[in-house]
Amino acid sequence: MNERGATSEARYEPVIGLEIHVQLRTRTKMFCGCELSFGDRPNVHTCPICLAHPGSLPTTNERAVLYALEIALALDCEIAPRSIFARKNYFYPDNPKAYQISQYDTPLATAGRLGEVRIHRVHLEEDAAKLVHVSESGRIHGSGESLVDFNRAGTPLVEIVSEPDLRDPAAAREWLQLLRTTIRQIGASDVNMEEGSLRCDANVSLRPAGSSGLGTKTELKNMNSFRFIERGIAAEIERQRAILDAGQEVVQETLHFDPRGGSLTSLRSKEEAHDYRYFPEPDLVPLAPTEAMLARARESLPELPAERRERYAAELGLAAAQATQLAFDAELGDYFERVVESAPDVDAPVIANWVAGDLVAALRDADQDGDSPASSRVEPPALGKLAAMAQRGEVSSGAARSVLAAMVAEGGDPRAIVEREGLGQIDDSGELEAIVGRAIEAEAEAAERVRGGNPKAIGPLVGFVMRETKGRAEGAEVTRLIRERLGA
Ligand code: ADP
Ligand code: ZN
Ligand code: MG
Repeated sequence: MNERGATSEARYEPVIGLEIHVQLRTRTKMFCGCELSFGDRPNVHTCPICLAHPGSLPTTNERAVLYALEIALALDCEIAPRSIFARKNYFYPDNPKAYQISQYDTPLATAGRLGEVRIHRVHLEEDAAKLVHVSESGRIHGSGESLVDFNRAGTPLVEIVSEPDLRDPAAAREWLQLLRTTIRQIGASDVNMEEGSLRCDANVSLRPAGSSGLGTKTELKNMNSFRFIERGIAAEIERQRAILDAGQEVVQETLHFDPRGGSLTSLRSKEEAHDYRYFPEPDLVPLAPTEAMLARARESLPELPAERRERYAAELGLAAAQATQLAFDAELGDYFERVVESAPDVDAPVIANWVAGDLVAALRDADQDGDSPASSRVEPPALGKLAAMAQRGEVSSGAARSVLAAMVAEGGDPRAIVEREGLGQIDDSGELEAIVGRAIEAEAEAAERVRGGNPKAIGPLVGFVMRETKGRAEGAEVTRLIRERLGA
């Protein structure tokens, strides 16, 4: 990094806050009885309420409220005894009422926390309809006709607003992944960014390092993958850094990040910001969760990532970083637990290494890093068996790696692979000693130097034995035998 970069790097601290929309997995819409649908024919799940016919009245979906309460409780929020639905007024073809029912000054929940990040608020609202832009040559944004699909109109949404507590793009991505895992564990949403059931806007500003005030922020709209969020925030930090370095001021605006070209374009400035003229929704009573609903939401909360991390550390003895890694990736954690169950004689931290270390690395080496352990050919009990065989010394650590590579490639049982490939640990010490003897003859020069008091010269001798045994001997034992024979 050049000197100017280094100084400006140190001179500014990025400040990031996220606004997240989550589509709930209810059977029906937020304020009517239409079913939620994904990929059905357009405009088949509609009724007078979600099409905004005059005189139709909304009723609140209790299942959606329960999911929202579960999310709010999982985020350690304070639940409002009475929260208020409000009309957020704007005109757009995806919004037949010309307002969206949302919550404004009295949201469902406030003042929570997830990991290191405080939660500002959690509220309920309804999704807009979906606009489909069509041209004659197919579907191309920005040209031709626009069609509206009202199937999505009225889908229940939970909006989660973080405090501006994040400090770098990777942390923002990781935190969003933790939030997704948390909501997925609850079962409240599919939380799938590609399909739009998880959507995220990022607010970004810079401030002088060491200061606690907030700089002018910009908002990056609707980035639809975790990678793009990280890259979009990083690009925006660089853009603001250049503006500040040039002695200019950041303008408050809403931006679109183009992940292909990496460019940021303005969608609207502060002056163009909407005035939504919020007012309380007259057709709905306040949302007042009963004790019974709160109790039900509390009881149905599953083990959340933070609790799981705690259990992995306290009960299974995992080190902090590994406990976090396995607990915050629920799929990986579930896989790990199945291996633990299948190998009661192997300590959990050893198994954690097999799963998060060896297996993940073996998948990467096999160019299967898109593959998680859970979707790989390696069945948890098979990995447990291999871990137990290695612990009992039936395979050397080198041979165990070969066995694991074979399991990644073709699945199957580790003992069968060991027998087929002749990878069993050499337990006949006579056989190993004979090979050590041959090593000393073949690498006479190295042997002479070891005898002469240079222990570092032992490498070629050990290498010879490992080659001859195809890694079936344990390195420490080989070294011990060679030293013994050379009197070193
Ligand atoms: P607005 O009124 O513009 O919507 P809010 O205060 O509601 O702004 O905050 C929206 C989001 O922006 C929140 O996630 C918040 O944490 C974040 N945020 C607010 N101010 C800043 C700032 N100066 N820099 C970065 N993020 C910010
Ligand atoms: Zn409807
Ligand atoms: Mg806001």
